[in-house]
Amino acid sequence: MAGKDIFDIAVIGAGPAGLVAGAACAISGLRTVVIGPPSNPLDRRTSALFGGSVELLKKLDIWARLQAQSEPITGIRIVDGSKNLLRAPEVLFEAREAGFEAFGYNIPNVPLTEALEAVCQASTTRLPVAVSRIDIGAENVTLTYGDDATVTARLVVAADGRRSAARTAAGIDVASWTYPQSAIVATFHHQRDHHGISTELHRPVGPLTVVPGPGKTSNLVWIEEPEEAKRLLALDDSAFEHELGQALKGLLGSISCLTPRQAFPLSGQSARILAKNRVVVAGEAAHVIPPIGAQGLNLSCRDAATLAEIAGEAKTRGEDIGSDAALSRYDSARKADIGTRIFAIDLLNRSLLSSHIPGVNLARGLGLFALASSSTLRTQVMREGILPAASRPALMSGGEM
Ligand SMILES: Cc1cc2nc3c(=O)[nH]c(=O)nc-3n(C[C@H](O)[C@H](O)[C@H](O)COP(=O)(O)OP(=O)(O)OC[C@H]3O[C@@H](n4cnc5c(N)ncnc54)[C@H](O)[C@@H]3O)c2cc1C
Repeated sequence: MAGKDIFDIAVIGAGPAGLVAGAACAISGLRTVVIGPPSNPLDRRTSALFGGSVELLKKLDIWARLQAQSEPITGIRIVDGSKNLLRAPEVLFEAREAGFEAFGYNIPNVPLTEALEAVCQASTTRLPVAVSRIDIGAENVTLTYGDDATVTARLVVAADGRRSAARTAAGIDVASWTYPQSAIVATFHHQRDHHGISTELHRPVGPLTVVPGPGKTSNLVWIEEPEEAKRLLALDDSAFEHELGQALKGLLGSISCLTPRQAFPLSGQSARILAKNRVVVAGEAAHVIPPIGAQGLNLSCRDAATLAEIAGEAKTRGEDIGSDAALSRYDSARKADIGTRIFAIDLLNRSLLSSHIPGVNLARGLGLFALASSSTLRTQVMREGILPAASRPALMSGGEM
């Protein structure tokens, strides 16, 4: 690639966040290059993507091929799994109560990234290699890859994950922290119907969540202390199925045909500013959130759609899309949405970890009691979850489910 060929946007990283950012920028009329090795084909996770994110997949013209492999989520049930005497009531959020057919869909990560990869290959310049050097100049950024080949762009999207080198090159600091927890994921068959409901069992060590999949299958995100997670990972399938059945208290009946398990240590991270020196941060380069309440990739979709809108409008006006003014628009547009999600999930997780403290448990219980009793409150929470007021980019609007 000739060094003088200047792109509007260079996305570094081809994980789900980088691919969705590249695809969104390309359909917004921006000349885009996406640089990064292909995504992990052995990722066994699924992503619960809410209405706005699914709308983006429709606008990228990949929803038809993904829908057949995905399951609508029509309800979210929160069950207090603490051993306290004062247990909170069960809360059931039903999408139809808020006027939607579904909150969103549970989509396997591998077909999702394959579909996004196909869009990027068709609509962007796709380089399946790692970037080895980033030089930020006054008017553009030059990226080096392979045998000293270079590519130049006005604006770089750092979507190179939680240890982002592009973020460091731009001088963007992060706050990082860890949780004494790991999440075990797997897909399993079960005897009873899930009825499209995702169930979160809130236990003192963290939530155990089962998200509906096609037919009588569900996807597990089981959060435990790291030592216990290690023990559960080492069990043979039938012993694990038995323990999972017990943890779920018979909710889905007997459990069988488990896929291999994977574990993810939990941590959190938040970029102190979201754009600086011709670089914007997106996906886990900007925010790392525990897998509770399905927030991470939904936030990344909003990063992508917002960036595409701001950069697309700047280009149409003939502005420099990497200017400080354009960067500051992205930072302002994204910081409230990202900040509130990081805060809310951290608070929820820490309130579970501290639920042995009576005051904390009482406050959590009262919150769940209020949600269980008030349809208006539940509807507000549901609408905010599907498309937050703080972030409504055009690529995610319209055609509500
Ligand atoms: C157990 C679990 C369950 C989850 N469930 C959900 C869910 O239901 N819903 C939801 O919304 N979110 C969910 N998430 C969050 C979601 O998976 C993440 O937000 C998402 O995967 C982050 O993607 P990313 O592209 O930012 O990062 P990554 O997937 O880490 O991708 C970063 C990419 O950058 C590349 N890279 C790094 N350095 C370079 C370089 N120098 N040059 C080029 N490329 C580079 C890497 O190769 C990698 O491909 C879950 C997370 C976990 C752990």
